[in-house]
Parts: sequence; C-alpha cells; structure tokens
Amino acid sequence: MVDLKRRFDVLVIGGGNAALCAAISARRAGASVLVLEGAPKFYRGGNTRHTRNMRCAHDAATDILTGPYTEEEFWQDLLLVTGGQTDEELAKFMIGESKDILNWIVEQGVRWQPSLGGTLSLGRTNSFFLGGGRAMLNALYLTAEKLGVQIIYDAEVTDLNIEDGMFLSANLKQPIDGITEIRASTLVAAAGGFEANIEWLKEYWGEAADNFLIRGTPYNRGSILKMLLAKGVQDIGDPTQCHAVAIDARAPKFDGGIITRHDSVVFGIVVNKHAQRFYDEGEDIWPKRYAIWGRLVAAQPDQIAYIIFDSSVVTSFMPTLFPPIAGATIAELATKLELDPAALEKTVTEFNAAVQPGTFDHTILDDCRTEGIAPAKTHWARRIEHAPYLAYPVRPGITFTYLGTRVNKQSRMVMKDGKPSANMFAAGEIMAGNVLGKGYAAGIGMTIGSVFGRVAGQEAAKNARN
Ligand SMILES: Cc1cc2nc3c(=O)[nH]c(=O)nc-3n(C[C@H](O)[C@H](O)[C@H](O)COP(=O)(O)OP(=O)(O)OC[C@H]3O[C@@H](n4cnc5c(N)ncnc54)[C@H](O)[C@@H]3O)c2cc1C
Repeated sequence: MVDLKRRFDVLVIGGGNAALCAAISARRAGASVLVLEGAPKFYRGGNTRHTRNMRCAHDAATDILTGPYTEEEFWQDLLLVTGGQTDEELAKFMIGESKDILNWIVEQGVRWQPSLGGTLSLGRTNSFFLGGGRAMLNALYLTAEKLGVQIIYDAEVTDLNIEDGMFLSANLKQPIDGITEIRASTLVAAAGGFEANIEWLKEYWGEAADNFLIRGTPYNRGSILKMLLAKGVQDIGDPTQCHAVAIDARAPKFDGGIITRHDSVVFGIVVNKHAQRFYDEGEDIWPKRYAIWGRLVAAQPDQIAYIIFDSSVVTSFMPTLFPPIAGATIAELATKLELDPAALEKTVTEFNAAVQPGTFDHTILDDCRTEGIAPAKTHWARRIEHAPYLAYPVRPGITFTYLGTRVNKQSRMVMKDGKPSANMFAAGEIMAGNVLGKGYAAGIGMTIGSVFGRVAGQEAAKNARN
C-alpha cells in the first residue's frame, strides 16, 4: 500500500515513456517518487505501448544502426519537416542529449533490435525496441519498481492546486477510494496530449473530428494540459497541429495501433470520394512524409480517401491488419468502394498516361515521375495496370496533438508572464509543441519523451532537495 498521507519529493502524472524516464531519473537522484497512471494496469503506458522505435543522433554505426546520424543531420531533418517551426535552442539541446539516451535507456533495462525490413527505411537513424513499445515499457516499469518508485494505476488526477506558478497538491480520483489530496514538492506532468478528446478536437476541426480515428490510448484526454494552461502556464503550439497519418477506415475508434497504418501511398495513387487525386504521393522519402497524410485526408470531403494500387506492388510494403479491397477491373474496384466507376477509370487512365519512363527505387528520390497532370506524382510513379486492382480506404488517424506547455531546457514549465515555474516540469507529448511546431519525422515522439523526461526527473529531484 502506498502511504498517500506523506509528502512526496516528486509527483509524476502519466504512465508512458516520458513519465517513466522522469520517475526513474528522479529516483536515481535520490528523490521519493509517486507515479499516478490514469489507466488501469493492463492499459498502462499510454501511446508508448504502440511505439517501435526512437530517433537518436550518433556519430558512428552501432550494433543495430547501419551508419552515423550526426546532430547536424538530425537538426536538418527537423528543420525540413517542421518548416522551421521549432524552438531552435530546445531542439538542438534535445538532439545533443539524444546521443546519450541511446545508452541511458539500455541502462534502464530496455533492449534494442535492428530495424525491421520493409518498414520505413529507418535502419541508420532509428533504434527499434526489442519486443516493441510494450516490452520497452515493461522494462522501465520493472526498473522503476526495483528502485522504489511508487506507482498507482486507475489513478486519474482530476485537479491541480497551483498558486503563483507553484504546484502545491493534486487531487487523485480512484475507483474505490474516491478523491485524495496528494502533496509533493515538485510536479512532473507527463500526461500526453488531448488527441483522445473528440470534443476538444472539434473546437478546431469542427464536425470533421467525428470522423477521426485515434490511433492510441483513450486516456489521453488532455485534462492535465487544460488545467495547467488554465492555471497560468504558457501555451506553445498551434492547436490544429498534430501527428496524423492515414489509417485504415475499418480500424477501431481508439487504440488500433501500428497495424492499422498504411505505408502503401508511395506505391500507388490516393483519391478522394469523388475519385480525384489531391496530393503528390511521391513528394519525399516516406519517413519524412507519412505523417502529412492524416491532415490531407482530414481536409477531403467526409474525411475519407482511398489508396489505389495494383497487384505488382503488394509485397513492397508491410501488410496491415486489414486486407485490401480487390477488383478485376478499375470499374469493379470503384463499385466495391462505392466510388463513381467512370470517374476512377478516368483518374487512373490519366495518371497512367502521364507516367514517364524511369528507374524505380523507393529508397531514394528516384526519377519515376508524371508529366502533364496536377497534382504531379514527383517520384515512384508507375502505371497502375496489373489486375487485380487493389485499394485501402483510409481516414485520418490522430497519433498525438502538439499544443502544449512551454518549457525551458530544464523541462521546467514557463508561466504566462515568462517566468519559470517554481516547481513544475513537463515532458513528452504534453510539451511536444516546443520542438514540433508542425510536421514529424519518425521516432521523434520517443526522443522528446526520453530526453525531456530524464531531464525533468533530474531537475525535479534537485528542486525538491532545495
Ligand atoms: C500507434 C502509434 C505508434 C507510434 N509509434 C511511435 C514510434 O515508433 N516512435 C515514436 O517516437 N513515437 C511513436 N508514437 C508516438 C509516441 O507514442 C508518443 O510520442 C510517446 O509515447 C509519448 O509519450 P508520453 O509519455 O508523452 O505519452 P503517453 O505514452 O501517451 O503517456 C501518457 C500517459 O498519461 C496518462 N494520463 C493522461 N491523463 C491523465 C490523468 N488525468 N491522470 C493520470 N494519468 C493520465 C495516460 O494514461 C498515459 O499513461 C506512436 C504513437 C502511436 C499512437
């Protein structure tokens, strides 16, 4: 039994990667630590459960990474995907710290494995968790428990008592014991974004948000973020910006995870419900572009689209949980998708006629492109001509939102008046907007959580001692 009457040095709200990194590093620095995870034990770990890899800078190949990925290259990749909408100082700090995380996370019990073939061409840049995100979390929880971190599940925090930028206590709501006031010297908020809160999403997306599918946990409803912003913490980030990918329209509303994501866009074309193409499917290497497709589909009528490809490419990408819908002809496929057959035939015929000769290579920006159609497909354009013809229906799959709490390099929250909070820190999705103004490059979510989680834990422990 956890003694909830005592005062803890560090209270960590959340139970994913950022929370566990914070809890472990605070405990290692000598602090007493309580973790409150809103989800039941089986569902512990938020979106982190679904992850596979993390992007860290490194100067040379490792046992599992095929070559160097310098801080400068990481920075350039981040600049590209965010279009410069990032806090340069914080982002460069994170990238520098990420080098050490590769080893630090192993010291916390996590194991790496080489990149899986056919995923996102990440073998040089991203380290994959042996056994996936759940195994990674199990290792972190085990380490935290062994170190003496106290953890409570089914432990939703429903209110925060904050005065003049100083955290005093939190209200814990438990299924049987009801509300308890928890006192702690410092707070680390690692409670995710607000992606599972459809009503909040609707404030920015309107009714379209009803058609969004949430790829991860239903527990990230943004309640802690909302309380912090209401109690004087400065916000950062555009509330409409988020990581959103195209996922199978047949996926469940929540927690469908990685197996519902479609990586087949570059191998075909994407049309909306009027059977019209609407964006360059070959704009850039897939890891730098996969996360724009959720927003693109969200902007289409009824938030639905269809990836159309042919039988010659079915073994070129990772299969998903859902089989493709097949037709012997384009018209038959259109009928099955409830699209206008004549319109889809016209789109495919025009696309095929525009494809120029080239040498196909999906690992580089190859010279297979179209000419004379809009939008162009600028790489990997090949004719769709081998029956059976195939399609995946897709909807926007929201991974996580970017609106968050502003922090400094200590992961310390910054108040609306620009002053650092006396004792409040944030890590992970809840502050991702500091680094990600928009866009995404695979594996940065876990970098943000690990780097700022570790720092937040250390700083919170130091703060509690003083
Ligand atoms: C399908 C999928 C695949 C992904 N793959 C990758 C990948 O391979 N690499 C990568 O870098 N990123 C990936 N991401 C993104 C990644 O999951 C997140 O960036 C990262 O896990 C965020 O960690 P976090 O600790 O901030 O949040 P989370 O892991 O989501 O944890 C938030 C926690 O807060 C808890 N919580 C919320 N509200 C309360 C409350 N009021 N009281 C108490 N607890 C509360 C939740 O229960 C949860 O445990 C993926 C996401 C999804 C959905």
